[in-house]
Amino acid sequence: MPKDFLKGTADSYDVVVIGSGLGGLTSANILARNGLSVLLLEQHYKLGGLATWFKRPGGHIFDISLHGFPYGMVKSCRRYWSKEIADSIVQLEGVRFDNPMFSLTTSFDRNDFTRLLTTDFGIAQENVDRFFDSARSMNFYDDQTKTTRELFEEFFPGREDVIRLLMEPITYANGSTLEDPALTYGIVFSNFMSKGVFVFQGGTDKLVKSMEKELVASGVDVRINCDVEKINVGTEGIQSVVVNGKTIKTSAVVSNANLRATIFDLVGEDKFDRSFVDEAKEVRLNNSSTQVYMALGNDDTVPRETGDLLFSSTAERFQTDLLLDRNVTSRTFSFYYPDTRPEGKGRTLIVSSTNANYSDWIGMSKEEYDASKQDLVETTLDALEKYVPNSRERVVHAEAATPVTFKHYTKHISGASFGTKFEGLMVSRALPDQIRGLYHAGSCGIIMSGWLGTINYGVIVANDVINQLSKMPATSPVASN
Ligand SMILES: Cc1cc2nc3c(=O)[nH]c(=O)nc-3n(C[C@H](O)[C@H](O)[C@H](O)COP(=O)(O)OP(=O)(O)OC[C@H]3O[C@@H](n4cnc5c(N)ncnc54)[C@H](O)[C@@H]3O)c2cc1C
Repeated sequence: MPKDFLKGTADSYDVVVIGSGLGGLTSANILARNGLSVLLLEQHYKLGGLATWFKRPGGHIFDISLHGFPYGMVKSCRRYWSKEIADSIVQLEGVRFDNPMFSLTTSFDRNDFTRLLTTDFGIAQENVDRFFDSARSMNFYDDQTKTTRELFEEFFPGREDVIRLLMEPITYANGSTLEDPALTYGIVFSNFMSKGVFVFQGGTDKLVKSMEKELVASGVDVRINCDVEKINVGTEGIQSVVVNGKTIKTSAVVSNANLRATIFDLVGEDKFDRSFVDEAKEVRLNNSSTQVYMALGNDDTVPRETGDLLFSSTAERFQTDLLLDRNVTSRTFSFYYPDTRPEGKGRTLIVSSTNANYSDWIGMSKEEYDASKQDLVETTLDALEKYVPNSRERVVHAEAATPVTFKHYTKHISGASFGTKFEGLMVSRALPDQIRGLYHAGSCGIIMSGWLGTINYGVIVANDVINQLSKMPATSPVASN
């Protein structure tokens, strides 16, 4: 008999959360802390979604998406998770750029960027100040037609080098391009510039285990290996979900699954207005990624000056479409020194990340796919040589992940690493107007993606659900638990 991962679940819950990415986990925690009965269903055997890790023999633990997030995580984690989690957030000391236009190291905050822009790049202080102030004042309700390219042209006309410095890390961070709305750039960039780039000391495994402990303490019923097949909708709104063949009643669903998968696969387009469906079909997915995970030998490490985060590129010019090309010219190297996991085995690991298109990685035979992955490993080792001499001899383990890998583990359509483009946010927010009790809290719209964005979106959506449920009549299924 296969194991019943739903053994002991109730027949109905106030809220069912589908997916345990950071958005889903945060929503579930807040909902349960507010006294609601919450069932969290994750199709994978691990919690965390893209905030995940894997182990390899030799004591190597690789983080997938722990490259950096803004300082705002400290406040969000303290408020919605725990002091212990917030206290483990530490700043990255060295962010490096190395490309044919410039090579520099920065603490990646407003003061240091102002110094670099005025001294190394020769931009007038007043112009730099105006740019920072303008970026910081942007918000969701602003003009959405101005593009990031237009923003840069306004402040730094013809300065491709400046645009590269300002844009390259954000493009790496969330796949945004110069054609995306300027406000998405302004919000994300200003978040980072407030204090620099931060990570979670102890690794993603420690973070997710701490979150799981909190969820259980808050009373969330947490289930892994539970793949939700359907969200059932009646005339009054959400009725139930079907998971592993079992129907569980609820009047509210928070889907942390991909937005388009939520609408078209889990609910079905016949349940929405025609115009909404048309709008949802226009929502573009964000791009995906490739990564190469490399481990140095047991007692080997690299000097700290190598940096924590290194934006490297051999491309003469900065073009966002080049960052997606199969012929990789730009890589972000994350260096994980032994103090990443102070209680670990003292290993030094390096992860190379590159934005990528799903379409470049599907439709191959197994042999072609394996060969392409191996080629990615080899070319990455070649590129690493510049920063870690003799890396081929020193790297004792190397393997690659592709957009197909990300799709496989998270069910994100086309392996999208940051959900959907900006227009997805409006569609996500409009779900409860279409179907009472249907919510989405997951990566969308650039500003609501990444670790901080999804946690904050999880908070916003949990509050929406709490508001809705507090207005429901006492005879509803909500009150029956
Ligand atoms: C390679 C890479 C590097 C990244 N680096 C960074 C970084 O350095 N900093 C940063 O801030 N962000 C980074 N990100 C992005 C960040 O990891 C994500 O934006 C964030 O973790 C997504 O959270 P989420 O809440 O949207 O859910 P996701 O992590 O997308 O999780 C969704 C969850 O839903 C589950 N699910 C889907 N369908 C179902 C179903 N039918 N039933 C049950 N469960 C289901 C999935 O299994 C998954 O666990 C990176 C992403 C990638 C891919």
